[in-house]
Amino acid sequence: MLSLQNQRQPKTTPLVDDYEISDTVLGLGINGKVVQCTNRRTKQNYALKVLLDNEKARREVDLHWRVSACRHIVNIIDVYENTYSGRKCLLVVMECMEGGELFQRIQDKADGAFTEREAAQIMHEICAAVHYLHTRDIAHRDLKPENLLYTTKQPNAILKLTDFGFAKETFSNDTLQTPCYTPYYVAPEVLGPVKYDKSCDIWSLGVVMYIIMCGFPPFYSNHGLAISPGMKKRIRTGQYDFPDPEWTNVSQGAKDLIKGMLNVDPSKRLQIGDVLSNKWIAQFHQVPQTPLCTNRMLKEGEEIWPEVQEEMTRSLATMRVDYDQMQIKALDKSNNPLLTKRRKKIEELAACYGTQ
Ligand code: ADP
Repeated sequence: MLSLQNQRQPKTTPLVDDYEISDTVLGLGINGKVVQCTNRRTKQNYALKVLLDNEKARREVDLHWRVSACRHIVNIIDVYENTYSGRKCLLVVMECMEGGELFQRIQDKADGAFTEREAAQIMHEICAAVHYLHTRDIAHRDLKPENLLYTTKQPNAILKLTDFGFAKETFSNDTLQTPCYTPYYVAPEVLGPVKYDKSCDIWSLGVVMYIIMCGFPPFYSNHGLAISPGMKKRIRTGQYDFPDPEWTNVSQGAKDLIKGMLNVDPSKRLQIGDVLSNKWIAQFHQVPQTPLCTNRMLKEGEEIWPEVQEEMTRSLATMRVDYDQMQIKALDKSNNPLLTKRRKKIEELAACYGTQ
């Protein structure tokens, strides 16, 4: 449910009164094009994402808008609700990320110019975005390379996270389980099932960090198309390694952090607070300046990069479904009195209508 008091309202005036829409396509997504637009008054360029107005789109915009003040999240400037050829649309005007995708920027670096310290700084930036979200009980659930964009092509550009199409509000019970809020007599299961949405983001952080460190992903599918059973098994059982020579000079601290984020058990996986306070991230200025082979490996694997991206997209989709199901199963077993009451009601209704 969207909380009304936090919800900002889209403008209902025509977007074209304020912005000129250009033909320049900035990127393609599952929901259509993201194009460039220009503010008529200031002449400043922005990115425009058009979504068909429905509940899912409303959720995406609402959640993104709520967190867009974060330095490491793409800023929303304006949202319009306009009708085009009889269809209601949501038009999202965002800051234009002119620096392109994270991995393109790493790939473009000169050989030997990308170091472990720079990798740690990048991870620090991404973790800041995830921390901002998780402390506000929002899980992104689609953290992958193409959603990490740079503001400009300049060396001082800021890395930001975008695309809240799968974001979800997670009123986690870890807030309820802190000593302040938990009456000592309440059993943890009474507070409801453990939610895994946030741990999905930590797994993504682990995969992204792995690729940042070496230029190839930790898990491969043997063949393309749908996520292979083999790949699913490797992810589930945590079958990956740190092969030589690419990983030979990488610090143990970095490898341990990746292991913590890729822990197969979502309840044992690190949480964002643990990641941010990890020495490799918190003291990234002191991380050794060991040259990494990332840019060389990214260049060598340029042709298969779209497959790597698709694979991560599929893995995340599978994980979202799996974690939702784990939660439903946990709900079924839960003793929460409110849920029991609700379940009873549903059963009674189902009996009335003969649907069970
Ligand atoms: P979808 O939800 O349809 O996948 P995204 O929000 O991921 O759409 O956007 C699709 C692509 O458009 C991105 O991968 C990126 O290349 C480009 N893009 C998105 N937002 C911006 C932006 N603010 N500035 C520049 N390019 C952007």
